[in-house]
Amino acid sequence: MKWNGHTHTSFCYHGSNAPMEEYVEAAIKLGFDRYTLSEHPPLPKGWIPDEPLMRELAMEERELPDYLAAAFDIKKRYADRIEVLVGLELDYLDGRTDYSLQLLEKTEGRLEDLLVSVHYLPGKGGMRCIDYTPQDFQENLIAYYGSMAAVVDAYYDHVELALEWAASLPYPTKRLGHINLIRKFQKALPPIDGEQVNERLARLLPLLKKSKLGLDVNTAGLRVATCQEAYVPEWLLRECTRESIPFVFGSDAHKPEDVGSGWDWFEHTIKHL
Ligand SMILES: [Zn+2]
Ligand SMILES: [Zn+2]
Repeated sequence: MKWNGHTHTSFCYHGSNAPMEEYVEAAIKLGFDRYTLSEHPPLPKGWIPDEPLMRELAMEERELPDYLAAAFDIKKRYADRIEVLVGLELDYLDGRTDYSLQLLEKTEGRLEDLLVSVHYLPGKGGMRCIDYTPQDFQENLIAYYGSMAAVVDAYYDHVELALEWAASLPYPTKRLGHINLIRKFQKALPPIDGEQVNERLARLLPLLKKSKLGLDVNTAGLRVATCQEAYVPEWLLRECTRESIPFVFGSDAHKPEDVGSGWDWFEHTIKHL
C-alpha cells in the first residue's frame, strides 16, 4: 500500500494556493493508492501573541465547513482512481484542548484520518511556534527556557501530553505528527544533544504501544536546509516494527511538487530496517 498520510491544501496559508486536484493528480501519477488530506484546523483567537502570523498558520473557523465539503467532494470525484481520506492535522493545544474538542464535534464524526501534532510550546509572551524561523526559536524559546536542552525536554513533555490526549479521542486511525519537529532548525541553532532526543523517544515507545497510536514518518525535514533528516530516526522505525506500532509515510506536502517527496528514502529505509 503506497499511502501519503500527511498533506496540505489551499486551505493552508503558509503553503501553495494550488487546487486540491493538482495534489491528488500528482499522487495518482506517482502511484499512490491512498492519500490523506490533513489540513491544519483553526486555532483559538489570540493563541499566539503574533496576530499577523496567526493568519498564516491556520484557516479561520468559518472555513472549516468549506474545507470539509471540498475534501469530501475530491474524495468522491477521484474514488475510482485513488482512495482519499478526509482528515486533519490537529494541534495539541496545551491548556485549550476544549477548543479542539469543539472543533472535532463540528466535523460530526465524519473525519477518516487524524494526525495530532505539537507545533506550539509555552514561550516568551505566550504560546510560540517551534517551526517558524531559527530567529523566532532563539528569541522566544531558547531565551525563555535558558538552554536548548530545556526546550527539547519541554517539547517531548508536550509530545507525551499530546499522545495521552490523542489516545482519548474517539477516531479510527490516529498518528502522532512529525515527532522530531524540534530538530527542524538544528543546523542553525545551538546543538541538540542526540542522546537526549533518543532517550526521550525511547520513553515514548511504550506509551505509543499502549495508546495504539501510529507514527507519521514525516519526510519534510529532508527538504529543510537546516534539518536534512526525516522527523523520525531509522532506529525508532526498527523498534516500531518490532513492537507492531503502525507508521505511515507523510510528505507533509504544502505544494503539489512535494507530494512524493521523500518516498524513495522511506521505501529504502523500511526495506533495510
Ligand atoms: Zn505539522
Ligand atoms: Zn503538516
